[in-house]
Amino acid sequence: MTEKLPEYKIFAIRYATRDARRADHFVGGDPHDGPMPMDYFTWVVVGPERVFLVDTGFTAETAARRKRQFLRCPIESLRHLRIEPGEVTDVILTHLHYDHVGNFHKLPNAHFHLQEREIAFATGRQARYPYFGHGFEVEDIVGMVRLNFAGRVEMYNGDVELAPGVTLHFAPGHTAGLQVVRVHTQRGNVVLASDASHYYENIQTSRPFIAVVDIADTFDSFRKIERLADSSHHIIPGHDPLVMQQYPAPSPVLQDIIVRLDADPAR
Ligand SMILES: [Zn+2]
Repeated sequence: MTEKLPEYKIFAIRYATRDARRADHFVGGDPHDGPMPMDYFTWVVVGPERVFLVDTGFTAETAARRKRQFLRCPIESLRHLRIEPGEVTDVILTHLHYDHVGNFHKLPNAHFHLQEREIAFATGRQARYPYFGHGFEVEDIVGMVRLNFAGRVEMYNGDVELAPGVTLHFAPGHTAGLQVVRVHTQRGNVVLASDASHYYENIQTSRPFIAVVDIADTFDSFRKIERLADSSHHIIPGHDPLVMQQYPAPSPVLQDIIVRLDADPAR
């Protein structure tokens, strides 16, 4: 008999935003061009026994350099959830792009879980090409190498269970070693797709986001995510402002800052 899986809460922290247009977000552009802003998130998975931070966002300095509108430090924002940064022991990195792995230095007691293929690519021969290299901050990548030498990076090759009800799934395409996170919640299995699908529309209309390492893998990862999630309403894209509109804030003071993804979305 299988034991009943624990139910986790999931919080999305919106920490930055930028204006953009529809044509910026789809391979081949979009015939109906118009505004399509991009939000930036980190996610927190809270279980009865363990807490997992999923991605760490970027710093105010990186935001200024890349002209993103920085709203709040994603690590400081953990305190809204009564989590001290020094208490975080497990960070899942979906991939190593600058908007997902900055701030690692603010988590002194964390171990970082990522796919070996991701760091192999980011330290490999093709990172020299600006098309790929632009998505990484070299200091983030060097920082991960240092953390690995300090014994604080857990690397995987493929799908893995981190805890009962929290599993990592290899879903490459946007990057070489991207992983998504499946979490068991009160409403079933939710998949944090991160940049395997930046927007709902990428996966729903099978149109990959414009930044891509392998377009064929991207399509396969769309289908894998659909199999992993209990329904299309259980898939959380990585950058879609609709997430903030569809899910409730955990309390009125956290409106527009944090939403709960283990709650049912508004339809
Ligand atoms: Zn990315």
